[in-house]
Amino acid sequence: MTLEGRRIEVRGTVQGVGFRPWIYRLACEEGLSGRVRNDARGVTIEAFGRPDALSSFLRRIETDAPPAARVREVRAEAIAPEQGSGFEIEPSRADGERDVSIPPDLATCPECLREVLDPADRRYRYPFTNCTHCGPRFTIARGVPYDRAATSMAAFRMCPRCEAEYVNPLDRRFHAQPNACPACGPQLRLVTATDDSPAAAGAPPDDPIVAAAARLREGAIVAVKGLGGFHLACDATAPAAVRRLRERKRRDEKPFAVMVSDLAAARRVAVIDEVEARLLESVERPIVLVRHRPGSELASELAPGSPLVGLLLPYTPLHHLLLAEAGRPLVMTSGNISEEPMAAKDGEALERLAGIADLFLLHDREIENRCDDSVARVIAAEPVVFRRARGYVPRAVRLRRPVARPVLACGAHLKNAFCLAAGDQAWLGPHVGDLDSLEACRSFEEQLGRLERFLGVKPELIAHDLHPDYFSSAYAQGRPEPRKVAVQHHHAHVAAAMAEHGLAGPVLGLAWDGTGYGTDGSAWGGELLLARYDGFERLATLRPLRLAGSDQAIRDVWRIALAALDDAFDGQPPLESLPLFARIPPRDVAVIRQMIARDVHAPSAHGAGRYFDALGSLGLVRARSSYEGQVALAWNLIAEEGEAGTYPFGLQEREHGPAQADLRPLVRAAVEDLVRGEAPGRVSARFHNAMADVGAALVRLAARQHGPRPVVLTGGCFQNAWLAEGVKLRLQGAFEVYLHREVPPGDGGLALGQAVVAAAVAWR
Ligand code: ZN
Ligand code: ZN
Ligand code: FE
Repeated sequence: MTLEGRRIEVRGTVQGVGFRPWIYRLACEEGLSGRVRNDARGVTIEAFGRPDALSSFLRRIETDAPPAARVREVRAEAIAPEQGSGFEIEPSRADGERDVSIPPDLATCPECLREVLDPADRRYRYPFTNCTHCGPRFTIARGVPYDRAATSMAAFRMCPRCEAEYVNPLDRRFHAQPNACPACGPQLRLVTATDDSPAAAGAPPDDPIVAAAARLREGAIVAVKGLGGFHLACDATAPAAVRRLRERKRRDEKPFAVMVSDLAAARRVAVIDEVEARLLESVERPIVLVRHRPGSELASELAPGSPLVGLLLPYTPLHHLLLAEAGRPLVMTSGNISEEPMAAKDGEALERLAGIADLFLLHDREIENRCDDSVARVIAAEPVVFRRARGYVPRAVRLRRPVARPVLACGAHLKNAFCLAAGDQAWLGPHVGDLDSLEACRSFEEQLGRLERFLGVKPELIAHDLHPDYFSSAYAQGRPEPRKVAVQHHHAHVAAAMAEHGLAGPVLGLAWDGTGYGTDGSAWGGELLLARYDGFERLATLRPLRLAGSDQAIRDVWRIALAALDDAFDGQPPLESLPLFARIPPRDVAVIRQMIARDVHAPSAHGAGRYFDALGSLGLVRARSSYEGQVALAWNLIAEEGEAGTYPFGLQEREHGPAQADLRPLVRAAVEDLVRGEAPGRVSARFHNAMADVGAALVRLAARQHGPRPVVLTGGCFQNAWLAEGVKLRLQGAFEVYLHREVPPGDGGLALGQAVVAAAVAWR
């Protein structure tokens, strides 16, 4: 009998997902001897046996891997055979190059859930139950390789029964790093902010979940320590509780996410199709934006004026137990005040959330990496991630065109996420949020430092936005690495989509968003770019609107409406026939007109989002947005399904500079409809159809000049399902059209584009 040997290196997400025990079982089935171990690059196997068994083994590694694993690459080389006895799992090594694959956190698996609900099981009602198929990963990791000693579970010593599971290769908990049980693992406690003793919270000391649920049913607000941070929970069916949470959190109108016990409960409060159902139940468990079922038990205060509601299913046993005990949907919103980062440490939560939460449901396992809930929505029958965090981070995006040396990209200003790239992998960090507060900027630096350490990536090039005043740009300038590249905002958006879909370029990139700094210093945001990784040509844009007061106009959207009207009607708009202007004092109108006429603090902006603001303000009769994009979103959501009408627009090619879509005819037609008393929902639908026509026309114009290319739709405006689907539909057949999927279309995905552009520019 011939005996051969192979050294097999497996790369991808292969640590912390039950990969080694699975390899062990596979080797036993194939009758191989040898060993497997985690190393800093992934998993290495040395296997010995008959040639046919070895090739079958290799084939199955690629095809049969466990559900949470992502095998990216399998490399095998022949080595000298060893006469072995059996197969073993060796301890990890921390040496060598790091190309690590710590997996994202995984939602509780069905087997663990069954144990938690089984009174005969030793893990009955144990909120920290997990196995190799599920449980915390990234959020408890302190370093690499991903082993218990390098997680916040190191503080807990396994009891003999857990230990026996942990070392038994045939057990589902073999090398499940966070393995725990009621006898040896983390414990819950329910306390108040001022008095850290169970009695003070009025809880029977034996079951904090029962006590917390009882208080939630009475209308209390409870801070719940979860996987990646604290949630603020309250009864989602009680208007008074939701209102109180809103007041205390100082969050005027932004919607709250709601956790429901299971898919059936989700269907009772929302209309959910099959793709949405799969997304809700996926191991990533994002918040999914779905259509609220009118007349459901949910309090209307959750998402005022919006037909959408953000739902998520429980992803830890703690959530499952709490939801079952509460017997109703619960608000689960980030534990923070307005836009600050969510609290993740006990002390921090007790201090910062003291004025908000009545009670704190704590546990003694540290959260090592702050990671907010992810947010996704189904667009054109596929999921699109709007906010990429828990469940997705730190899964790498594979780069078809590797970066020559490691790169750090610092991201945008709002909805910031940074990105580290090395070789053919790019890691988008967790959603940090708006870099307006000291807290957020501190969190940015802290999380970046951690991920750098974690991945062992030492950047040699720093990419940042062209905008000189962003915190992220200033941070980049302050980095010690000498090489920096400033990347134009919309070029980065387009490149992010190219990288996500492995497109070599050039592409036609339609990048529509609120704003981004242009190479000419003006505000861009309605761009059509012919883009490669290392450069772009600006082929077309939208006719700009004046923003009187700059950022103030983004809140006082009536100012943008006025600018659009004056532009479209040559200074003679029918203000007296528009209900919006019945609410605006004529004095204010005069002031804004003067600012624009004298060109005082009234920049021109090309952002497509500004047209949504302007028409939304007129159609909804709303003068103000309480957060950026609020009016635009509300305007989108009232669009009447099935309305096929549209509005005209012009398209001017120009000798110098990009072509320009002239939206004045569109604004005039929409205003005439409104003045005539047409239903706002119908006007909104026609407006959206017209904007999709504009997008498609810009692409066709560019294709006539530069030949057909793949088309990517990117930028925050493409979170608008009507617009994204509309442009795609119009171009389908003639073009390959790509939407974002796991990389956010908004500024949360920007850093990926910055990284690949900077690398291409620096190492052409
Ligand atoms: Zn499990
Ligand atoms: Zn135990
Ligand atoms: Fe943007």
